[in-house]
Amino acid sequence: MKAAVLFAQNQPLDVVDVDLAPPGPGEVRVRLAATGICASDWHTITGAIPSPTPAVLGHEGAGVIDAVGAGVGSVTPGDHVVLSWVPSCGHCRYCQDGRPNLCSVAAPALLAGTLVTGARRLSYQGDPLYHYSFLSTFAEEVVVDEASCVRIRSDVPLPVAALVGCAVMTGYGAVVNRAKVEPGSSVVIFGAGGVGLSAVMAAALSGARYVVAVDPVPAKRHLAAEVGATHAVDPGETDVGALVRSLTGGDGADTAIEAVGRTELVEQAFAVTRRAGTIVCVGVLPAGTSVALPGPDLVRHEKIVTGSLYGSSRPRTDMPRILDLYADGRLPLDRLVTRRYDLDDINTGFKDMLAGHLARGVVTFGGLT
Ligand SMILES: [Zn+2]
Ligand SMILES: [Zn+2]
Repeated sequence: MKAAVLFAQNQPLDVVDVDLAPPGPGEVRVRLAATGICASDWHTITGAIPSPTPAVLGHEGAGVIDAVGAGVGSVTPGDHVVLSWVPSCGHCRYCQDGRPNLCSVAAPALLAGTLVTGARRLSYQGDPLYHYSFLSTFAEEVVVDEASCVRIRSDVPLPVAALVGCAVMTGYGAVVNRAKVEPGSSVVIFGAGGVGLSAVMAAALSGARYVVAVDPVPAKRHLAAEVGATHAVDPGETDVGALVRSLTGGDGADTAIEAVGRTELVEQAFAVTRRAGTIVCVGVLPAGTSVALPGPDLVRHEKIVTGSLYGSSRPRTDMPRILDLYADGRLPLDRLVTRRYDLDDINTGFKDMLAGHLARGVVTFGGLT
């Protein structure tokens, strides 16, 4: 099958023929319909997020179950699935606590380059390749852990479903699961890419009175305004803090979401939030960086600063629910798909992403879409 392989850091991906072994016990083979291009893949190409090479990247996908290994009970061939990059074990304290995104087994092994069991099913000319985020979706087919498969309704377009596998779950979950945004509240969202726009939609759906999207790219601001932002501003032109204070009677926002991954934006998110407000950090900050918060305010203002991994999700509950809301016309997720690419053109997709042209670029595969 065809797959886009990262043979070494800071090189373009090579689309080549690779071999995929049959699914082992507890594993599943999925024929992919679509895979989104995410900034995390790029950070892996550059080495900012270290993961072993040579590898097939990609961690945002959806498709149809093609074959199942021994002992697989939750899915059968023909099922439509979104792929989860946290194949939670179901048994550890976090899984038992209803926090499967923090699973003690899956979360620490995310960038090990294997399936949860340590197995590798990909190879190129006889040499094993590493997996990526347990998924490796830049390929026509994947073999993944059964626990990575989230069964979904079969009447939603799979390119839209694919985005639920990373960007949508991350942004929506930051708002709904982590911040628990309330009707009438005010929310500021830094970054209006796939994750930030998903947060905008979720904040609007949650009944926020003000949804302020902050992004320097005009096209992203335009889209943010169309999918629910009450204000979409250029941080180079607008004093975000002054705007938020003017909207909230001088108080500050109830919630700020940082969806870019820059320390100065976390600090700005802290500054624009009211006393006892919540700051949710979603963008992964570069390794080795630290955030500087004003010490006295940290105590006196009782603000809550929290991360959110994968939208603090329970994938098997949240992902089908998100797709129901999409099907009901209440979450316009299809607006996130800016452009489609063939796998052969995936490097163009990365170029377009880096140029700021995309909410999301999606690679689609023939046959299923
Ligand atoms: Zn991602
Ligand atoms: Zn677990």
